[in-house]
Amino acid sequence: MKTGFFVILLPWRKVLASAALAAACLLLLWPAARFSAVPGIPSWWTAPVVAVDPGHGGYDPGVSAPGGTPAEKDITLQIGKRLARALERRGFRAILTRTDDRDYALPGQRGREAKRQDLDARIALAEAHAAAAFVSIHCNSSPAASRGGAETFYNPSSAESVRLAARIQDRLRRIPGMSPREAHDGSQYYLLQRLRMPAVIVEAGYLKIPADRQKLLDPGYQQEVADAVAEGIAEFFREDSGRLNAPDLHQLWALPGGSFRIFSTPSSSPLRALM
Ligand SMILES: [Zn+2]
Repeated sequence: MKTGFFVILLPWRKVLASAALAAACLLLLWPAARFSAVPGIPSWWTAPVVAVDPGHGGYDPGVSAPGGTPAEKDITLQIGKRLARALERRGFRAILTRTDDRDYALPGQRGREAKRQDLDARIALAEAHAAAAFVSIHCNSSPAASRGGAETFYNPSSAESVRLAARIQDRLRRIPGMSPREAHDGSQYYLLQRLRMPAVIVEAGYLKIPADRQKLLDPGYQQEVADAVAEGIAEFFREDSGRLNAPDLHQLWALPGGSFRIFSTPSSSPLRALM
């Protein structure tokens, strides 16, 4: 026993030295790795900002399960935080429209007026950060649905929103046990009507269907949804990067409107819009 103890103890100095060296290397490499983490996206890519919006909050609980808990606003915040981290791991910059239980209605406002004020503030936040995409997280409420499953809604008048929703929905369908739902027209949603960048609403599951409710409360399922949505977003941007292969291009800018423009190096030529 004693010998074994020393066998384990002796290499510690070497192990510590190696660990310190590895940590130093990681620190040196970290900034570069951070911005080339999305496979297929060139290292000079300006990491796009993705706005993650945990639906509801504060005075507005959203849908509640029978008995009042859990409230939609709590689940959307948990999934939203996981999604922001999943995006950061893939080389994006993520902003959350809220990180705690709050709303943006003015004091005394309630009803439609409060809801509009709240959503307008979230839109303004995303625009102020020049977000290149906007993803709002919700839970579905229809008691009439016979089966659960996550689904994505888009603004049909924005081809980029339709494409973003398709990529996300494709990834959501790959989650084991997921009901194979399609992306849907979300033109009735005020948020999607107003956002100018590619924008979608992801309903992560049906809170009033017991099997889905169990999943929505499960951190494992929340993480699967977050990873699926992040992967769908990454694929959406990867498709853009595939179009950027002209050798004279050196800088890409993500514009608040969701379009991308390229400045070409042979100077005199004007801006060339790719999308
Ligand atoms: Zn909702």
